[in-house]
Formats: sequence, C-alpha cells, structure tokens
Amino acid sequence: MVQFLTEDEPQRGVAVEIVPGIRRMVADNPSKMTYRGTNTYLIDTPDGTLIVDPGPDLPAHIAAIRAEAGRVAGILATHSHVDHVQSIPALQVGLDVPVYALGSRVAADIALAEGAGLHGWRVLHTPGHIDDHICLLREDGVMLTGDHVMGWSSSVVIPPEGDMADYMGSLSRLLDENSGLYLPGHGPAITEPHGYVRALLAHRHGREAEVRACLADGVGAVEAMVARIYPDLAPQLMPMAARNVTAHLLKLAKDGLARAESGGWVSAA
Ligand SMILES: [Zn+2]
Repeated sequence: MVQFLTEDEPQRGVAVEIVPGIRRMVADNPSKMTYRGTNTYLIDTPDGTLIVDPGPDLPAHIAAIRAEAGRVAGILATHSHVDHVQSIPALQVGLDVPVYALGSRVAADIALAEGAGLHGWRVLHTPGHIDDHICLLREDGVMLTGDHVMGWSSSVVIPPEGDMADYMGSLSRLLDENSGLYLPGHGPAITEPHGYVRALLAHRHGREAEVRACLADGVGAVEAMVARIYPDLAPQLMPMAARNVTAHLLKLAKDGLARAESGGWVSAA
C-alpha cells in the first residue's frame, strides 16, 4: 500500500518558506487532478529568484508571484502540462529573463537536457508522466519532482505522451540519487522520498502483475480488465482506469510480454 499525504487548505497569494532559499506559493486551481492547486516555487539564486512552474494563468496568482519574487532570474517549467506553464506568457511581460524547459512544447529560451546545471541545481530528465518532464536536484539533496513524484497521489500516465515503461524507469533512477526531501508540483513535501518511491514502484509492479494475470486467463479487452482489476470503481473513474491499464499493456508490449491483436490483447510471454 502506498501511504499518501494530505495537507490543509493552503493560504493563497503568499509564498511560504519550505527550506532555506525555497518558498512555495499554491495557485488557486484546486481539482481532482491538481489537489490544492499547482505549487509554484520561488528559489533564491545569486542572480535573483528562479520561478519554477508559475502555474495557471490566474491574474491574482501572477500578481502574487511578481510581488513575492522581487528580482527575477528566470522562469523554469518541470514539464509542459497547462497547469504548470499557462501563466508564462503573462508573467514574462515586462521581464527580460530566460525561460528554461526541456523539449519543444514550452517556448523556452534555454533548452534544458539531462545533466544540465543551473544555479546549483542539476537537471534529471524523468519522462513517464509526460516525455518532457524534468526533476531538479540541489547539491544539498533537495529535489523538485514536479508531477513525477507527488505525495498526495500517484501520477497519471496517459499514452502517447505518457509512457509507463519510461515512468517506472524514471522512478527507479531516483533511487540512485541522494535526496532527503522531494518538493512536488502539487501537495506537501515528501520527507522520506526513497521509501515512498519504492512503494510507488511496488504498486505499479503489482498492477502490472494483475494485467499479466488477465492476459494469462484470456481476458484481452481493456474494459474487461478494468472490471476485474478495479471491481468497485465509480463509473466516472472508468476512463482513467482504462488509460492506466492501456499504459501498462503498452509497457508489456515494449517488454515483449504482450501483443495487440484484432480481438484484444494477448500474452506474448
Ligand atoms: Zn500538474
């Protein structure tokens, strides 16, 4: 079982220090997908404030970022999902600072890549939730994990931009990095990150085993797998569960363990 974290309704419009040099401001876009809202991080650097994931295009949030950030050194996106990057154009107005991101979906001035260094942070390319996702690791072991690892929920992996094989690989690689604190894109900080990542991986391996058991029993339609794996699921959550099962099937296909045929999925093991 994965033990998820909760937190109380945050104060809006103010930046709260999480650890020295890093403040968090929670955007007012709460939802089933975003928990209390998107976490915007304000990071002290010798050149000013690095704004990570400025979030949705909400005028009050943008005004609060401007007020709290002071001198801005740059704007960085952990990934291209709209709840993280939508405010970048509005925030850029009147600011002559670079935008940093990996990949081409965000209009970045500086393209980041695996291993890049930035104000004492190192870029880790962590595809899976989406292919252009990065985490950032500070020398003291603080990691910004975006939507790759969040304490309040597991990440959604929706093909084709999301990829379960990549996601599980990107989880495993975090265990090779010395970090004692994860600061995610939504929800509270994770203070025992490696144990949490191991629990997430175990959860995904368990789900994969359930999908393989369906194939072994000749259950090859995604809807039938969802009905068997999630017997008590609310109807409105069925499409998400179906996407999740499909993501696992695509991983199994990549691993040479499953194959799509005209009548549904079959085991290739
Ligand atoms: Zn998000």
